[in-house]
Amino acid sequence: MTGCGEKLTKLTSGSQYDICMPGECLQMLTSGACITYNQNAGGCNRMLKVLLHGSCSYDCAYCPVRADRSGLAFAPRELAETFLGLYRKNLVGGLFLTSGIPYDTDDVMGELIESARILRTEGYAGYLHLKILPGARREDICEAARFADRISLNVETTGESRLRVLSGIKDYASDIIKRLGWIADAAPGHHTTQLVIGAAGETDKEIFNCVTALYERMLPSRIYYSSFKALPKTRLASRESTHPWRSRRWYQMDYLIREYGFNKTELLPLLDDHGTLRNDDPKTLLARNREPVDPNSASFTDLLHVPGIGTVTAHAIIRARERRTIRTPRDLGVSGACLKRALPYLAFSGSARQVTLAGFR
Ligand code: SF4
Repeated sequence: MTGCGEKLTKLTSGSQYDICMPGECLQMLTSGACITYNQNAGGCNRMLKVLLHGSCSYDCAYCPVRADRSGLAFAPRELAETFLGLYRKNLVGGLFLTSGIPYDTDDVMGELIESARILRTEGYAGYLHLKILPGARREDICEAARFADRISLNVETTGESRLRVLSGIKDYASDIIKRLGWIADAAPGHHTTQLVIGAAGETDKEIFNCVTALYERMLPSRIYYSSFKALPKTRLASRESTHPWRSRRWYQMDYLIREYGFNKTELLPLLDDHGTLRNDDPKTLLARNREPVDPNSASFTDLLHVPGIGTVTAHAIIRARERRTIRTPRDLGVSGACLKRALPYLAFSGSARQVTLAGFR
């Protein structure tokens, strides 16, 4: 450990509200120092998430960094050396670097980029995720994208009026959406964003419209969801926290949109008359309104609509039916929990015509 263990502990703890993966797991790095890391995020195993600055002059109503008056911060070289010390001891495998904004945005952005530049100059070739600050300059976004494997700017909420509930400083159109467009240009396929669910009272219908528009126009590699938590010393401390099931359901919705390409028209009925998502698996809800499909003749897309069947299983079924007619669950060539979930939505006619994998490309 370096001599700045306490600072590292506090600045890693302050970064935990930026999400790098669904259900991420924060653990102690060593028994002596309370350093948290993300076990699997970014594919790098044990990613260190840390703030460059632990305080912020912005006014986001849910954010504990805003309330921090300690002024704890790393200088870029100090951060780089601290991280490299841990990396060389094999205690961490990648870095997620974010920051509060205690003074001018351009200056803090410059420090984030300088930290990344030092790391790369020192020979660090591992995973690096840099946070882009709201209102960042285009040239800084391009520079960050040059050093980082991934960059991200949190969209936070669904629109200008909702953002007003959270912040009197950030401008939704200019500081966030315009910058997301620049990020999409600078790092195509290598950027993410995050929504805080429930902080500004946004409905699931608003979230749905926001998420589908982001995937259509900004092409993020993925969107992360965190249920709003009413934290002590924040302006929303007395508000009720959003139940974690809501972000879980949004990860499931997101998967249907991002991975399976389910369209807006078929997903919209999952929202009730008040624009609220039900606390149930969205794919199962959709399947309950569809006829069971014959695995011998179902299209790849139809198979994807069956609960328990994802892309790997759908391909396995199509390969199985190229060999023989599927008359029983055993003929599907798959087993386990996914098969149990799928069976109520499959109809084994055994007489349908064979369809080849090539037909679905
Ligand atoms: S910009 Fe807002 S969310 Fe980000 S650290 Fe500052 S107060 Fe927190």
